Amino acid sequence: MSVEVVTFGCRLNAAESEVIRRQAASAGLDDAVVVNTCAVTAEAVRQARQTIRALRRDHPRRRIVVTGCGAQTQTQTFAAMPEADLVLGNAEKLDPAGWAKARAALAQPHGPKTVVGDIMAVRHTTPHLIDTFAGRSRAFVQVQNGCNHRCTFCIIPFGRGNSRSVPVEAVLADVRRLAANGYREVVLTGVDITAYGADLPDAPRLGTLVKRILKDVPDLARLRLSSIDSVEADRDLLDALASDARLMPHLHLSLQAGDDLILKRMKRRHSRADAIAFCASVRRLRPDIALGADLIAGFPTESEAMFQNSLALVEECGLTHLHVFPFSPRPGTPAARMPQVARDIVKDRAQRLRECGARALQQHLDGEIGATRRVLAESRQAGRTEQFTKVQFATPAEPGQIVDVTIAAHDGKQLIAA
Ligand code: SF4
Repeated sequence: MSVEVVTFGCRLNAAESEVIRRQAASAGLDDAVVVNTCAVTAEAVRQARQTIRALRRDHPRRRIVVTGCGAQTQTQTFAAMPEADLVLGNAEKLDPAGWAKARAALAQPHGPKTVVGDIMAVRHTTPHLIDTFAGRSRAFVQVQNGCNHRCTFCIIPFGRGNSRSVPVEAVLADVRRLAANGYREVVLTGVDITAYGADLPDAPRLGTLVKRILKDVPDLARLRLSSIDSVEADRDLLDALASDARLMPHLHLSLQAGDDLILKRMKRRHSRADAIAFCASVRRLRPDIALGADLIAGFPTESEAMFQNSLALVEECGLTHLHVFPFSPRPGTPAARMPQVARDIVKDRAQRLRECGARALQQHLDGEIGATRRVLAESRQAGRTEQFTKVQFATPAEPGQIVDVTIAAHDGKQLIAA
């Protein structure tokens, strides 16, 4: 029996689940089910608890270990669940010593139910030598973890600690290994990757790292970035975007809102004008670029006029891939203590923002018809373009391979190849 890992949340959690699978197995916990939770929204925590109860029903005798940001930030909530055998911290989940403690705790009839350390005390992030990703055609490489910012709505720093970077040579070794193992696309992931390197000797920036990867790993066909903070994007990064076709023309921006007063109350580091100017400049540098963004609807004190500024930002920045989050108060964050917008208004605004995003995506898809696109096959039936737009194949392709297709049509959500 192999270790089963149930993953919630972001690409970083997905990358870490591959490490968890191996660490738990090496610790001899091969009958375990590990739930790698997310804490970004109350809904994510609710879904994790629901899954744990279902797992216990389906597997009455298997060990259930709960880890991830939910376990780190709401340890007692999960420890109080009779269905869970152990709650393991976010640093411990990646550490052989953490799994040794977990095994010892699980071996005792009335052992401790939590093995959760102080995440703020963690200073390093260990490279994890991952060479395959089960069932995936693209590989995630963690380059950074944690965050030094304290946006007022965000629980992540309390789940992942302060920012720390993986040394450049270790990242290069990971990318080389994955490229040698046939991965055509690598996604650099972390929590705040534009803060990359600030804690390393010589303080290399994300752009430095990207340029090193593109130069030192010539076999890698496609390098993609996970979310970035536009206001922290460095000159080398923009230069690489402008000059190297192997850096994918797709940026997902952590914008969060389109109103300056709301951005101030969120403690974000950019203004509305900064966001618009950044999008215009990267579009000049790389005309085929697709831009996505995270946007929150219904942040405390947000008026209808302020919300209209977020709606208008979609067009003014030329965004096509939106991730819309209805505001979710996270216990312990300053925004949870601010005057809240009524839930029905939050839900309504999120729906209107999604509809706005769907219209923008439709325009993007219309513009793709007739184009020839290089697509990384994620399955025999479908894949993604360099702009990260989904494509349905007309003829089956080999997962993991890059194929050239001509776009014939779309169904409002994805492109259809000729
Ligand atoms: S930058 Fe802000 S939103 Fe992003 S992880 Fe850090 S605190 Fe959270």
